[in-house]
Amino acid sequence: MLATAHAACLIGIEANPVQVEVRLGEGLPGFDIVGLPERGVRESRIRVRAALSSIGFAFPPRHLVLNLAPGDVPKTGAGLDLAIAAAILAACEGVSSEQLPSTLLIGELSLSGELRPVRGVLALLRSARQAGLKNAIIPEGNRHEAMLVEGVSVLTAPHVGAVVRWLSGEAPLPDVSEAPAVLEASVDAEPERDLGAIRGQEAARRALEIAAAGSHHMLLIGSPGAGKTMLARALPSILPPPTSEEALEIATIASSAGLRAPRILTGRQRPFRAPHHTASAAAIVGGGEPIRAGELTLAHRGVLFLDELPEFRRDAIETLRTTMEEGEVVISRARQRVRLPAEPMVIAAMNPCPCGYHGDPTRFCRCGELQIARYRGRVSGPLLDRFDLQVAVPRVSARTMRKASRGEASKAVQQRVERARVRLTSSGARASIESLTENVAPEALTLLELGVERLKMSARAYLKALRVAHTIAALDGAAEVLAAHTAEALQYRVLDREPA
Ligand SMILES: [Zn+2]
Repeated sequence: MLATAHAACLIGIEANPVQVEVRLGEGLPGFDIVGLPERGVRESRIRVRAALSSIGFAFPPRHLVLNLAPGDVPKTGAGLDLAIAAAILAACEGVSSEQLPSTLLIGELSLSGELRPVRGVLALLRSARQAGLKNAIIPEGNRHEAMLVEGVSVLTAPHVGAVVRWLSGEAPLPDVSEAPAVLEASVDAEPERDLGAIRGQEAARRALEIAAAGSHHMLLIGSPGAGKTMLARALPSILPPPTSEEALEIATIASSAGLRAPRILTGRQRPFRAPHHTASAAAIVGGGEPIRAGELTLAHRGVLFLDELPEFRRDAIETLRTTMEEGEVVISRARQRVRLPAEPMVIAAMNPCPCGYHGDPTRFCRCGELQIARYRGRVSGPLLDRFDLQVAVPRVSARTMRKASRGEASKAVQQRVERARVRLTSSGARASIESLTENVAPEALTLLELGVERLKMSARAYLKALRVAHTIAALDGAAEVLAAHTAEALQYRVLDREPA
């Protein structure tokens, strides 16, 4: 007797459909799994056997062969348990298999038969729709993610017993896709993450606005307590909210990492991730077994904040550098190649020197010139070139802080950013070197070239400054890049200007 059930397994942030085939054969009683099962899947045998015995099912004294198709893709994770259990029951005629051909079954089983939530349900459900399946059964603990999927009737179950009753037509299961989407008020920035909460820091706020408008990576250089972290945290509040397509992509990534996905997609901010500098390269770029997304992917279409950039591990910095260029992470394994989208805006922060107070008006720097050079050397050259904006963030004295009024709130800045983005897209200013020199006033170009010569900037840094100048012109509503725009763009090359 042969039975088939539909499952899917998560690879990176995408789902691959898997057919679970069970054949009852002759030979010594036993239970084999073929079709490249990795450890989590091989352990299914133990969980499924125990879970089925909890509903009174005894394995027949036959030889069970379980085939996971397609055979050339490794199968990972425990989410195949439910499909394996259902296929076994169908093969042994424990349940009618009428619904099986049109149903995706997802869930890890506990030894007593409960369905445990799994990572990546959003991607797994989308694969059901692509495969043309009518129904999907998922663990109750994943129900909030199911509300984002259309075109599949999504049922939730607490226990394998409930699934069996549904398959046999004895009892219904709750259909999440019919539940009305819970409406939440559009989410405004938390007050402490609003730009309005930052007093003073006019120059840094301006740079943040430019970064947001042009999606420029930015490096903040300043003493401890200067407010670099507050500035970075405020960035999502001035970025345009994600489109519904982007929001679904962001939610799918969060779901694949086991983070709680939102109930609804509208009115959300872009993701903000701030890994600690001790994070491994794998935690930053992704990896592991099974392959999981790293911080660069979790921050995709949002903000990745790296505080104390020079303290990050060498290998992490190296992978960061290449990913910032390519916009995706590719992880190659013996039998698979996984692509993870990774296009966050990177905001990094560093002290001006190891002690943190080089150039500070009130504190004395204890560092030697060599120490400072070595410290800055950790982020020099190719990595530094990835940051379009290098911005000095001076510490604001308590007195200035008291006198400074509250800054402009995020909402107003966000509107300017959105308008500038529309202008940048329509002018296509970021596409190529040729188009970068279009719509630039001659004196603006001359000024930039003089600056490049004086600061001994690299060719790459020259193009970055030109891109930034285009963004500034777009914020200004100007038809072409003027000398004032290139002059301002040159100001954001702090580390080029001031070689320790
Ligand atoms: Zn110092």
